[in-house]
Amino acid sequence: AKSRAKGSCVAFEQEMDARYVERQKLKVDLGEAVEQGGLHVVYQPMYKPNGTRIECCEALVRWVHPERGSIPPNVFIQIAEEMGIVSEITRFVLQQACADCASWPGDIGVSVNLSVQDLRNENILDVVSDALGEAGLPASRLHLEVTEGSLLAEMGVARSILTHLRSRGVTIAIDDFGTGFSSLSYLDNLPVDVIKIDRSFVRNISEEARGFRLLRGIVHLSRELDLRIVVEGVETEEQLMLLNKYQCADLIQGYVFSVPLPSKSLLGLMEALASK
Ligand code: C2E
Ligand code: CA
Ligand code: CA
Ligand code: CA
Repeated sequence: AKSRAKGSCVAFEQEMDARYVERQKLKVDLGEAVEQGGLHVVYQPMYKPNGTRIECCEALVRWVHPERGSIPPNVFIQIAEEMGIVSEITRFVLQQACADCASWPGDIGVSVNLSVQDLRNENILDVVSDALGEAGLPASRLHLEVTEGSLLAEMGVARSILTHLRSRGVTIAIDDFGTGFSSLSYLDNLPVDVIKIDRSFVRNISEEARGFRLLRGIVHLSRELDLRIVVEGVETEEQLMLLNKYQCADLIQGYVFSVPLPSKSLLGLMEALASK
């Protein structure tokens, strides 16, 4: 029994080595992809709850690995953070998103995710200005999303960076709201315009569910603080109906309206809605 345990231990170690090697290789490949234009951006629209208008689209980065196919962004963003190159990804996504947004009709905005590392360095202020300037996009059409977790981790610098960005006219959203230490009392002290309620609140909603009562409480307090509310991850008509019955959202983002799509595929949709 002892030797079998030892055997499985060796197997375990070999597996760990293999995983380590895999991850090292992924790092090298990611570095190349970032340098050589191997990433691209798709967009998921945020709709008015009645589905008649797209107000803004979230930019979501994609990496299709030449051998392994699509790697999920929450996997490679974490690797990029470990490598210290996530700010290069942010710069790329910002540039692409501002350029694409400038080609959209009306005043449809674009929302870009910042990483916790972007909130540590005042460089991000110039990166944002440059992206807007190069695309000729007014700051009012750019939204930036920061997660609750990264805000709490970097409260000091983050506050000053976000205050600057906001004073230039950029809209600031708190992402994945409700998954961190969400206390609405700190929200009152932050330069924030929008909260994006995490999809975990929507997954099992029903009129009776505690999660749904919690969601309605968050909505109520957010309204008191003049925050706009985006509900994320809405997948079904039932979820949408319930959210609308209790007027829980200013904007809805989720598969019920659209999956993330390339800018070109969205243009037709945007133009059709705009001309209605
Ligand atoms: P997120 O910012 O919360 O983005 C929303 C995620 O939910 C996206 O996953 C989107 O495709 C997915 N989603 C949208 N609607 C639905 C729905 O109805 N049901 C379900 N089950 N999922 C839905 P995605 O694109 O895989 O991105 C995952 C995470 O990776 C993002 O979560 C964000 O944290 C990170 N990420 C993506 N792009 C970027 C980026 O450019 N920069 C940074 N720093 N992070 C990014
Ligand atoms: Ca987001
Ligand atoms: Ca705006
Ligand atoms: Ca989110």
